[in-house]
Amino acid sequence: MVRRLEAWVVGSENKAPDYGAVLNRIMDDIRPYLGQGRPADYIPALAQVDPMKFGMAVQTADGAAHVVGDGAERFSIQSISKVFSLTLAMRFEGPAIWQRVGREPSGNPFNSLVQLEYEQGIPRNPFINAGALVMTDIIMRHTDDAKGLMLAFVRELAGNDAIDYDPVVAASEWEAGHRNFALAHFLKSFGNIRGNVDQVLDTYFHQCSLTMSCSDLARAMLFLAAGGVMPGSGTTVTSPRQTKRLNALMMTCGLYDEGGDFAFRVGMPGKSGVGGGIVGVLPGELTAVVWSPALNPNHNSLCGMLALEWFTTLTGRSIF
Ligand code: GLN
Repeated sequence: MVRRLEAWVVGSENKAPDYGAVLNRIMDDIRPYLGQGRPADYIPALAQVDPMKFGMAVQTADGAAHVVGDGAERFSIQSISKVFSLTLAMRFEGPAIWQRVGREPSGNPFNSLVQLEYEQGIPRNPFINAGALVMTDIIMRHTDDAKGLMLAFVRELAGNDAIDYDPVVAASEWEAGHRNFALAHFLKSFGNIRGNVDQVLDTYFHQCSLTMSCSDLARAMLFLAAGGVMPGSGTTVTSPRQTKRLNALMMTCGLYDEGGDFAFRVGMPGKSGVGGGIVGVLPGELTAVVWSPALNPNHNSLCGMLALEWFTTLTGRSIF
């Protein structure tokens, strides 16, 4: 496989790879792997999704868009939404957020409770559930309508007003969200949730239930590949320093306890969700998004990891 891939590297320092051809190639090669792994079932609504779905989208900072397979179909973005909530929290409170959340990889599953007791209610990073709950609490101190604000923000970033919450998924999370209830109450006991616990959870569950396609996500995250400024509109989303920090956190903490392997195999900042999506960012160049609902034992998309690994190999692009 390695020899075949190397023979096919299409990019060079001077010439941009043919991303459309790369995506088609990945689509062909991934077929035998589809269906390996299992969709998340601890959120009952996610267990209904067809495990054979597969889509990808690439959006370059200079305006080219490519999509293959089910890349235009909307799916539950789940923890990928933590990039949006961290971005909003940074915009509202700047560096003050680091008094309430750390920025080290946790080395633990995303919904682990153990570290929080030892570390006195300060979550390791904003991308594990505990950290994301704190980010949601921060956002809610700045608006009476956090769900509306989050939705408007994401719609604007993606340039798509059809993006919405999925009430069935949000309700399913309420039903099955025992660990998140435990985390939120635990955080509250340490004083690291200021608002009403149920309202914070309701906002968090909705944010996880956002449905977007690979193309939507590739557009929405493009500011991360462009120094914080959305190409096209020229809107400043984050400062250069905030953009650097977001990418750094995605690199170190975006794939939970599989971040090291993602860096090793793929080599770019990323963020995954249990809906089977993974967003990758090549700063200065592009966003690459994949969706395949069947997950590996670390709760990351099995084919998504493979596809992004092949993407950086075939294009000869990574941050390393
Ligand atoms: N909504 C999910 C949860 O809280 C998000 C987890 C994920 O995508 N890793 O468990």
